[in-house]
Amino acid sequence: MCFLCLLCSFLATDCRRSVEQRVTADPEPGVPLTLANLRAQSIDALSYDLAFTIPAAPSEPIEGHAIIRFAAKDLTKPVVLDFSPGMESLKSVSVGGRPSRFRLIKDHIIIPKEELASEDNVVEIGFRAGDAALNRNLEFMYTLFVPARAHLTFPCFDQPNLKARFALQLNIPVGWQAVANGSENFHEATGDRLRIRYSETQPIPTYLFAFAAGKFQIETAERGGRWYRLFHRETDAKKVERNKKAVFDLHASSLDWLEKYTGIPYRFGKFDFVLIPSFQFGGMEHPGAIFYNASSIFLDESATENQMLNRASTIAHETSHMWFGDLVTMQWFNDVWMKEVFANFMAAKIVNPAFPNLNHELRFLVSNYPAAYAVDRTEGTHPIRQELANLNEAGSLYGAIIYQKAPIVMRQLERILGPDKLQDGLRAYLKEFQFGNATWLDLIKILDDRTELDLNAWSHAWVEEAGRPAIRSSIEEGALIFTQSDPAKRSLLWTQQMNVLLGASRGAMLVPIEIRSDTVKLPLPPSESVQFALPNGGGLAYGDFTLDDASRAFLLQHLPELKDPLDRGAAWVTLWEEMLDGRVRPSDFVELSLRALPFEQTEQNVQLILGYVSDAYWTFLTESQRTDVASKLEQVLRTGLNRGSTSSMKATYFSAFRSTVTTPEGVAFLERVWRHQENIPGLILAEQDEAGMALDLAVRSVPAWASILDEQRGRFMNPDRKARFEFVMPALSSKSETRDAWFEALKNVDNRRHEPWVLEGVQYLHHPLRGSQSEKYIRPALDLLIEIQRTGDIFFPTRWMNSTLGGHNTRTAANMVRTFVDEHKGYPIRLRRIILQAGDEVFRAAERNGG
Ligand SMILES: [Zn+2]
Repeated sequence: MCFLCLLCSFLATDCRRSVEQRVTADPEPGVPLTLANLRAQSIDALSYDLAFTIPAAPSEPIEGHAIIRFAAKDLTKPVVLDFSPGMESLKSVSVGGRPSRFRLIKDHIIIPKEELASEDNVVEIGFRAGDAALNRNLEFMYTLFVPARAHLTFPCFDQPNLKARFALQLNIPVGWQAVANGSENFHEATGDRLRIRYSETQPIPTYLFAFAAGKFQIETAERGGRWYRLFHRETDAKKVERNKKAVFDLHASSLDWLEKYTGIPYRFGKFDFVLIPSFQFGGMEHPGAIFYNASSIFLDESATENQMLNRASTIAHETSHMWFGDLVTMQWFNDVWMKEVFANFMAAKIVNPAFPNLNHELRFLVSNYPAAYAVDRTEGTHPIRQELANLNEAGSLYGAIIYQKAPIVMRQLERILGPDKLQDGLRAYLKEFQFGNATWLDLIKILDDRTELDLNAWSHAWVEEAGRPAIRSSIEEGALIFTQSDPAKRSLLWTQQMNVLLGASRGAMLVPIEIRSDTVKLPLPPSESVQFALPNGGGLAYGDFTLDDASRAFLLQHLPELKDPLDRGAAWVTLWEEMLDGRVRPSDFVELSLRALPFEQTEQNVQLILGYVSDAYWTFLTESQRTDVASKLEQVLRTGLNRGSTSSMKATYFSAFRSTVTTPEGVAFLERVWRHQENIPGLILAEQDEAGMALDLAVRSVPAWASILDEQRGRFMNPDRKARFEFVMPALSSKSETRDAWFEALKNVDNRRHEPWVLEGVQYLHHPLRGSQSEKYIRPALDLLIEIQRTGDIFFPTRWMNSTLGGHNTRTAANMVRTFVDEHKGYPIRLRRIILQAGDEVFRAAERNGG
């Protein structure tokens, strides 16, 4: 939905009087879209001249000074700046050199319209910087202003589409280093203080403005005539030596690749990057000063090929943002997915060829499709582009639809257009909007001119609407027919390319087709009989596939015989969805898995299958089916554990064994391993693995459960892990009063501060083996959700609901969730979606089992 539609709906429903009130009323806290749009239309030629005096001690305040220059196109309204720290942090506000009669409300400074001029407004503000976004540590500090946190530190227009030039002056302790977006052009030490001035930046939004200061070491290198600087705090000199060449090389080769691909040189001057210990994200793409999490860039000597690939991908990802996100920026954070998906898309192109031993297509399949389907199949799904009324809710946009579905959709877009047309379109887009802002629809318009396909319709189905196509295959009169329909009855059509895997007696082949209308026909080769057709062969097509009966039956027998690991992965994903939709019996799915696992050598497929088996076992098998299959399952898992060729393969099997073991022999084996009476060759068990085993034994109510928990508590060397274990322990008690009290205590926010601890306990509380005793916690957990969101981290609500409902599969549990949703008609939409996402498998299992 675009902003204009939002405004129209306001105008249509409100009378004129209240519209005028809305215009003159004070803006809401945060950065509301309505305010951002008004400002984007009226503020122009914006620049900031900022100065910060940073004391060494993190407890002492940082004093700041801002000169904000702009032109105002609308003099009928006051100008609203964003600033959160409050009145006590505001020293002085002047406009045009005269004291301002400003007003301060929550999150905003309001400058009266009478003080404004159409050209050259100069607002000068002395302030004490808020610490919330400054990450102040003993020896260093760094800013992190994404998505709209700059105004927690200094006064500004904190929205992505008011780009500005930033000049910066820092006053730091002598002995510290500092880095910012611009290059250093003045440097003066006086006594124990150092003053540094940075040259003015190109136009950038507030979320990309950044600086870091502190005790850093600097490595410098030249590549292809450009100088790079690397700031870090690593004390292990050998580690630095071992890594730095690769880190410089990776930046230089990414930059080089991107300049060629985009046809636009790097536009932000100098190129520095800062490795920050325990940085919140993998990286953050501040132009001229990328920040990284140190541990993912400086690798240990034992680093695996996967870790090397991840490092190369992270560097290529952040470097890609210099064009996608930094040079051209989204208008509003509803399009944040766009910069992320392009950065990943470019990173894969840049990096994958350097790692020819890894199966990148399979990696793409298993890391994206199951997670995207797990949300997109539910009643709680949402479009890739979501509405966002206020930037203070930007955190809630993130989830599987953005991270996993969007990359799938982008790959489809490239296949539909062809790589050359996409590149050509992206070049035009970057050129047209450079140093400005654009929406997804701006890009679609450019790409639409390059294809005869109706890209607006394509984008509408894939990006603006929620859900996936239902695609049914059937074989009739020598042809394979695919029919697509919209499960939500909106008459949407999803255009996409598919690689159909056709199995024939002489072997399997991939047949590419494009589905544009509701039906597509694929003539079958007359000479031989087709054994099966898999619509998402090669792991390409996206949808809810209904196989024809013969293909389904064939795959349930012969899936393990498919030669290509990618095709096997794709077949597993499809059969799992068929099982969820009720077309494959859970017991058949489990039986097939147990037959396949001994032959499956590809670790990514083993992980995929084991994940599905555990879920099917607990959620979709009946109790008697579980009993029937238990010893066979444990035997397969233990064989895999013994035969596994790598320690990670063994770990994968062991964790599946731990989570599904139920037979007396199996549980006794687990107990012996925990007691160090039995050793699994090649499997290294760390402290947290032992703790997990102790909890798994306790939830199975083994006779010695209480003493096992006690002994485990005494084994801990690491105090943090011990504290976590002690926190979780009561949730495992065999006494229901103890578990009740533990859950009751979670209603106090102080007891929810360690979110991973809470989630682990909640998961065990609702373990399937205790399902009937834990149903009583479902309703109170739902009642708590709004508060959970208010007080917790952005991912906590989803994880809270998943941990609560993950162990349940009965009609009673499903009804509790349904009743809650029905009773709360006006419930916040994003939370409602979270409940419906988490409830999906419970609903499906309840319907099937009727239990
Ligand atoms: Zn990114």
